Amino acid sequence: MQFVAEPMQLSSLLQRFAEPETLKMAKLGRELRAKGIDVIDLSLGEPDFDTPDHIKEAAKKAIDENWSHYPPVAGYPDLREAICTKFKRDNNLDYKPENIVVSTGAKQSLANIILAVVDQGDEVIIPAPFWVTYSELVKIAGGVPVIIRTSIESEYKLSAAELSEAITEKTKLFLFSSPCNPSGSVYSKNELAELVEVFSAHPNIFIISDEIYEYINFVGNHESIAQFDSIKDQVIIVNGLSKGFAMTGYRLGFIAANAEVAKACEKIQGQFTSGANAITQRAAIVALTSDLRPSREMTKEFTRRRERILQLISEIPHCDCAIPEGAFYIFPNVSHYFGKRNGDAVMQNADDICMYLLNDANVSTVTGRAFGEPGCIRISFANSMQKIEEGMKRIREALAKLK
Ligand code: PLP
Repeated sequence: MQFVAEPMQLSSLLQRFAEPETLKMAKLGRELRAKGIDVIDLSLGEPDFDTPDHIKEAAKKAIDENWSHYPPVAGYPDLREAICTKFKRDNNLDYKPENIVVSTGAKQSLANIILAVVDQGDEVIIPAPFWVTYSELVKIAGGVPVIIRTSIESEYKLSAAELSEAITEKTKLFLFSSPCNPSGSVYSKNELAELVEVFSAHPNIFIISDEIYEYINFVGNHESIAQFDSIKDQVIIVNGLSKGFAMTGYRLGFIAANAEVAKACEKIQGQFTSGANAITQRAAIVALTSDLRPSREMTKEFTRRRERILQLISEIPHCDCAIPEGAFYIFPNVSHYFGKRNGDAVMQNADDICMYLLNDANVSTVTGRAFGEPGCIRISFANSMQKIEEGMKRIREALAKLK
């Protein structure tokens, strides 16, 4: 029998999801910089600080002590204990090591959970704006993202009525972040309590609470939705060291969930990665059990920059934005500039505005379309005060040129 040679083909799965717009903008910025152009990066999704010294020392010690073998898939027992202690210390939440799974970043934790709970055709409710990866992971798992738009008037937060209306018999999961990337919204305890009332009536719905920006909070204490006993078993907390400890490159995330969900995530992870980097895990124990002063200092600096960037954005006409209560982004609505032109080029949407700002003003930002809010752009203040001031000046001047 003779076979006709077909061209090689990649999987159809690849067609179902997009590459992260945040990483794409960072790459475009790097390319311009390589050509010698002075690009100011306000698309950054990571703290611009170095990892605190005591954590770096712990990583070096782990290398010298030969922590170089495969770790347990769910994480070293003493790290899982340290994570439980962190939950008690910071959130007054009781978890046991059997509830914890450590992974290679919060992103992988999210992937584990979504693959563990979402079946083909299951609906996953995601309030917009949302972090770019949520909808794409749901699509990879064969689920259906159900995006609920919120508005600047509600500070980009979802109400109980909107949540209730979105729930169908196919709803499997609800997925949100507080503090939110990109809007900076932070849900108060009362606002969470209202959502909890709805979830209490639907005990079959899982809730992913992404709390990776927990320490970068400008308004008070972090409130976790897992504090409500009536739904605690439904909640899967996702957190990690990337943002609060300036450890993005170390790649360490973790979840806290009921033991059955934790076991399921461990099973998935056992096939994908065999667990998180051993050196990073040893360093994470030190990060999580030490004084939080370095994290607080970073948040203090983000607070200063937030004040300044809010002042600077208010000086740019027609760039309304909600006041961020956490994380390190502002998310102005730039739709006033849609339809305006720079020479022959018409700004059709936020993507065009971002490309215009990159190529004309040499400032990188991220289109709101990627976050499910196409009228906005995301501007990060995880950069020095001087870069923020120069970047915002360039944005102001570039937008003023659009006619
Ligand atoms: N969740 C949110 C809301 C984020 O903004 C990010 C990173 O930008 C992550 C999760 C992923 O974090 P990690 O570096 O731990 O994978």
